[in-house]
Amino acid sequence: MLTVNAYAATSATEPLAPTTIQRRDIGPRDVLIEIAYAGICHSDIHTVRGDWGPVQYPLTVGHEIVGTVTEVGAEVTSHQVGDRVGVGCMVNSCRECANCRAGEEQYCLGGNTLTYGSVDRDGTITQGGYSTHVVVVEDFVLKVPEAIPFQAAAPLLCAGITTYSPLAHWNAGPGKKVAVVGLGGLGHMAVKIAHAMGAEVTVLSQSLKKQEDGLRLGADHYYATSDAATFEQLANTFDLIINTVSAELDLDAYLSLLALDGTMVNVGAPAQALPLHVFALFGNRRSFAGSSIGSIRETQEMLDFCAEHDIAPEIELISADQINDAYERVLASDVRYRFVIDTATLA
Ligand code: NAP
Ligand code: ZN
Ligand code: ZN
Repeated sequence: MLTVNAYAATSATEPLAPTTIQRRDIGPRDVLIEIAYAGICHSDIHTVRGDWGPVQYPLTVGHEIVGTVTEVGAEVTSHQVGDRVGVGCMVNSCRECANCRAGEEQYCLGGNTLTYGSVDRDGTITQGGYSTHVVVVEDFVLKVPEAIPFQAAAPLLCAGITTYSPLAHWNAGPGKKVAVVGLGGLGHMAVKIAHAMGAEVTVLSQSLKKQEDGLRLGADHYYATSDAATFEQLANTFDLIINTVSAELDLDAYLSLLALDGTMVNVGAPAQALPLHVFALFGNRRSFAGSSIGSIRETQEMLDFCAEHDIAPEIELISADQINDAYERVLASDVRYRFVIDTATLA
């Protein structure tokens, strides 16, 4: 066992605090990664605050991890010591169910092993990336292309893949009108990626405060959803809406913005159930869908796409002692556009 420095939540209400956690001994298929940077995803906050259900504390969260391989097990073939690698939201799956066999292990029917807060095969609870090292089986370790600045690469491992996957699945591209609801961590990546795919991109944000940023990130249009006229003006417009909002939202109002055969994909994961009236789907034969991260194969495809198109998240680099302040800013929609922890400050 390896004892490593980390930051952990001890309850739903206390601030996160420095601690140490244990990493397992490196098995024959495992890779030991010295973590360099870890992104802060809103899911980390939902989790530690108990929004999604009970949590076993203490818990170290963080599922946007980049680092360097420092040791590999005897049977590892895909990674070498010194490689720049990444780890996202999952670290294993059953590998046997229909969805795993189809290469969609994010939808593992047996329940995949999440990077934090999951029961691992040895019965321990997985601990995430706000730490200095992690041990992961090689198949769930991604290669981070040299073209992507290392500290900015971390948020691709969740915010990047969670938006790339539905944009690719629902064919965002030339001739398609795509709206992104919420310009936070996921939203800003959705704008960059949809723009690079060739779609006409509209940001739907609570206010016009971030309009200049949105247009610079690649949006063609920007509207405030606090202005009721926005919903009249944009009725029946979009082929695809990606909703990244972490809180309650009037789904019917957003569905009314879909054009014929349009789809609204929810990736935002608020604590509460959201009401939806089926009549909102009848007009224009609209669809409402969900999407969870992306497969390992697709995550590598996304990383390579971002390298090719010169896409990197916009980040604010912070030290570990700023994590709690960063959480407050994320909750206040005051993130520009992802906080990334320099894990050297955990030492
Ligand atoms: P984030 O950085 O906090 O961004 C969320 C954005 O939503 C905010 O910046 C804000 O944008 C908007 N928003 C917040 N509160 C709102 C409210 N009350 N009404 C309307 N808009 C509001 O969060 P994130 O890290 O991007 O994550 C977003 C959500 O996706 C979270 O719920 C997270 O758990 C979930 N998630 C899901 C997956 C998946 O696999 N499906 C993966 C990762 C994350 P504006 O200021 O522009 O309005
Ligand atoms: Zn996440
Ligand atoms: Zn499976």
